[in-house]
Amino acid sequence: MSAMLGQLLERINDSGPLTVADFMAECLLHPTLGYYTTRDPLGATGDFTTAPEISQMFGELVGLVLAQSWLHQGAPDQIVLAEAGPGRGTLMADILRATRAVPGFHAALTLHLVEASPVLRAKQQEALAGYNVTFHDSIADLPEAPLWFVANEFFDALPIRQFIRDGEGWREKRVIAQDGDLGFALGGIAPIATLEHRLGDTETGDMVEVCAPAAPLASELGRRIAEHGGVALIFDYGDWRSKGDTLQAVKAHQKVNPLAGPGEADLTAHVDFETLARAAAPAAHTPLTPQGVFLERLGITERAQALATRAAGGTLDDLIAAHRRLTHPDEMGTLFKVLGLYPATHAPLPGFE
Ligand code: SAH
Repeated sequence: MSAMLGQLLERINDSGPLTVADFMAECLLHPTLGYYTTRDPLGATGDFTTAPEISQMFGELVGLVLAQSWLHQGAPDQIVLAEAGPGRGTLMADILRATRAVPGFHAALTLHLVEASPVLRAKQQEALAGYNVTFHDSIADLPEAPLWFVANEFFDALPIRQFIRDGEGWREKRVIAQDGDLGFALGGIAPIATLEHRLGDTETGDMVEVCAPAAPLASELGRRIAEHGGVALIFDYGDWRSKGDTLQAVKAHQKVNPLAGPGEADLTAHVDFETLARAAAPAAHTPLTPQGVFLERLGITERAQALATRAAGGTLDDLIAAHRRLTHPDEMGTLFKVLGLYPATHAPLPGFE
């Protein structure tokens, strides 16, 4: 039995079934045994690949939106450029390279990363060698200043609870101990005040997911952007409103049973962007936009062509494949979305209209 399974079973024996959120949090971020705490899970030889790891084009275009909106808001000095869950630091490195030529942008910014994993903090430090990086445990710890913020596949790693509709109440899906292993079971029926608004668009048997940390984080981002100026670009898979069971475990690029090998697989759930957008008021939010559409509007095809004139052999094929993976509806183009936050007093962001 793995140390993680042993300690989950012990916890269930001591204090009863775990919510899916407790289970996710324990598996992903246990201080010594957690999935993110103990490894770099990214890349071809790891468990999953993300947009910035697929191609530099992703970070370059994101960098241009950030710099463009900074100019548009009057090029404030002393801004916080921040990323949550930066993985290997690739996205931030690409953003910084792409914005080097924007006069004054680098001089105005200080760099802040919100990262829970010591292993990944070390990777990020390496990727951003030459820059002065400050690490934080939480978005709330970022300095109070105009905020240029980005997150890719960060919100999908935050723990969710799952509820199944039963009449006018809900039963929570929980993780129990079963013959020395883990299993799922439903709790008793209870009315849940925070799910009141979902009685209108669900019926008995439907599942809804609730990510408790998401709204406070979005509200923190929105307040700072409304107060000090700035923008947030939030990329993730998901949709406007959560419906259905989206808990997913991935190991070595394959979907696996979330309860098998706890702490050994990435656990994620679809992001409910409506919750983020509403919590971010008084900041304005963009329309929720498919990643493929967004990147096309920002000129990813022209960027790929420009890079291709310098590419030879394999790299040209790689560029074509990367462009397709990032934008095509059969790949990440439609499943992945981007939501932007900006001050209501300013014009909307490029790439969204
Ligand atoms: N953005 C990167 C990595 C995505 S993986 C990319 O696109 O490649 C998720 C990232 O979020 C990892 O860096 C992980 O360690 C971090 N993370 C997950 N939960 C976190 C939390 N609660 N607080 C801070 N970082 C977290």
